[in-house]
Amino acid sequence: MCGIFGYCGGKKASEILIEGLKRLEYRGYDSSGICVGNGSKFSVYKRVGKIKVLADTLPEKPFGHNGIAHTRWATHGGVTEANAHPHTDCNEKIAIVHNGIIENYQQLKDKLLVKGHKFKSETDSEVIAHLIEEVFNGDLTKAVKQVLPMLKGTYGLIAMHVDCPDVLVGARNGSPLILGIGNNEMFLASDVNAMVAYTKQVVYLNDKEIVTVTPDGFTTSDVQDNAIHKDITMVETDGESFDKQGYNHFMMKEIAEQTEAIKRGMVGRLNVDEATGHLGGLNMDNAQLLDVERIVLVAAGTSYYAGMTASYLIENLVRIPARVELASELRYKNIIVEKNTLYFVISQSGETADTLFALRELQRKGAHVLGICNAVGSTIARETDGGVYIHSGPEIAVASTKAFTSQLTALYIFTLLMARIRHLSFEQGKEFINAFNELPALIEEILSADDKIEQIADKYYKSQSFMFLGRGINYPVAMEGALKLKEISYIHAEGFGAGELKHGPIALINEQTPSFFLVPDDALRDKNISNMKEVKARGGKIIAVCTNGDDEVKEIADDVIEVPKIMPCFYPFLLVVPLQLFAYHCAVKLGRDVDQPRNLAKSVTVE
Ligand code: GLU
Repeated sequence: MCGIFGYCGGKKASEILIEGLKRLEYRGYDSSGICVGNGSKFSVYKRVGKIKVLADTLPEKPFGHNGIAHTRWATHGGVTEANAHPHTDCNEKIAIVHNGIIENYQQLKDKLLVKGHKFKSETDSEVIAHLIEEVFNGDLTKAVKQVLPMLKGTYGLIAMHVDCPDVLVGARNGSPLILGIGNNEMFLASDVNAMVAYTKQVVYLNDKEIVTVTPDGFTTSDVQDNAIHKDITMVETDGESFDKQGYNHFMMKEIAEQTEAIKRGMVGRLNVDEATGHLGGLNMDNAQLLDVERIVLVAAGTSYYAGMTASYLIENLVRIPARVELASELRYKNIIVEKNTLYFVISQSGETADTLFALRELQRKGAHVLGICNAVGSTIARETDGGVYIHSGPEIAVASTKAFTSQLTALYIFTLLMARIRHLSFEQGKEFINAFNELPALIEEILSADDKIEQIADKYYKSQSFMFLGRGINYPVAMEGALKLKEISYIHAEGFGAGELKHGPIALINEQTPSFFLVPDDALRDKNISNMKEVKARGGKIIAVCTNGDDEVKEIADDVIEVPKIMPCFYPFLLVVPLQLFAYHCAVKLGRDVDQPRNLAKSVTVE
């Protein structure tokens, strides 16, 4: 969570910092601030609210050629100007920006208070500035190196000191930090997208690495002062895709982009001649894949539901056990790493702290772990033993949409590959690929019925609470539908397996609590219809998402959203789209901040 950005070069730092913050804003947006170096002093500007508030209130001339910036997602201390970063030491000579959590900050703060340090905020981060102040002796890199071993927790941080003009020192442990190399200018940021407008040459820093930058160079080392050689990578990300391209919100743009994103995720990965999947990045040959006896998918939030959907498909087609684990739980549950088990960690940003730490815990115990990520070069992508990029393109809206269907795309291709080296026949593989290829056009068809979905949203958006119900492979989709609605409209919503309804949740059903039923034309349709009738009998309103022309469903439901017919295991791709659109329209009608909903942030880099 949170974005940090640093600039060191010949241009007006404040302008570059604000531009960088705008590109990082999706990572945290409760408050922001910049510190600009100006000869023997520096100036700090902070504001509560969006970056725009900071940009609009910045004095005409905060000049200076280096500086650091932060967009916050508060963890310690309320959302106030005092708690916004950058934080400074007692003498306002040192400024730091920090992403992460310093877990032992209270002990450190207590000691610093005894020594007479004066604190200006309630954050955990401020201790870093005071600790640097304690040890600083003319060399900022040295001071940072002395302080880092005292910190417990996670950090991506950048420090500057008035006595070291033109120097920024960055370090990371558990939170991302990337160096950008420009022409007589350097950048540091928690996301490569903050700097692609200025340079495509980057260095991905690893945990425990420290970087010192000046306008014309950089050095990387560890706390023991050993120099570390780093390779320079050319990034291909295109800054232009940060445009809404005529849509009112990034979320709507990203929902609409799903057809293209799925196509991109399929390119070169479906081998029609052999009726199988091809995923070069797995770094595993067929013999190794054949040895796999079990699959565990580890993720958080929407990625977790993508993993859960895939677990149904894998068990059904590959006929080996597959299960999902919440990343935040796995890390601390002393997981048993079983032999011949393949682990997947799934994260759109590739920086999700819970997922990253779960990955490291699994690797510590000897597991073979593959990644499913969107962000190229992200920490998870770099630390896994292989994996698949979903190629979804930048996802800016906090609520994930296209990443979900793109993650499914990657996982379905993997499943095809695994199934074809086992029990799936050539003919069955071909049918699977044919259905896969139909997806983009069918999703397009659903998108074109957006008006109807908006009308349904209009009818229901004032409801206080919703149920989302589905069975089998569509049960995770029901959960994802409920999550989407909660995230952006703040309406309470619960997702359940439809069969679970009578075991408790049905107590919530009344005329004011509408239920979404995912009831496509699959083997569980009749069971779903029975559950719909149970709801109906209790006066509950029903919005059914069913296959085109299902008259029986239409008769029971109050409102119906139809999706085209497809091979049943592909329904999750189709059913999720109306749920995304419904959540979107409810949020718009309620006047919510769709792309940056309250309390949330993209790229959850704190535990
Ligand atoms: N823990 C710090 C704070 O609450 C940093 C949070 C962040 O990563 O934005 O200020």
